[in-house]
Amino acid sequence: MNVIVDQELCIGCGACEEICPAVFHVDEEIGKSSVIDAEACEFADCCEAAEENCPVEAITLEE
Ligand code: SF4
Repeated sequence: MNVIVDQELCIGCGACEEICPAVFHVDEEIGKSSVIDAEACEFADCCEAAEENCPVEAITLEE
């Protein structure tokens, strides 16, 4: 699975990192989330929850 964060949309709220810290990390200096390990979605089983809980729908999951 591939995971993409649209940094134009991201508001840096931190929800994705809180839900799925193995996959997402918010850079507090720029206030944006990025994907640190997309492959972790396979076993961490939290990427769908992160996608659903992103308030600006900045997360896209691709099979
Ligand atoms: S949940 Fe969405 S808006 Fe919040 S930090 Fe993650 S990608 Fe950005």
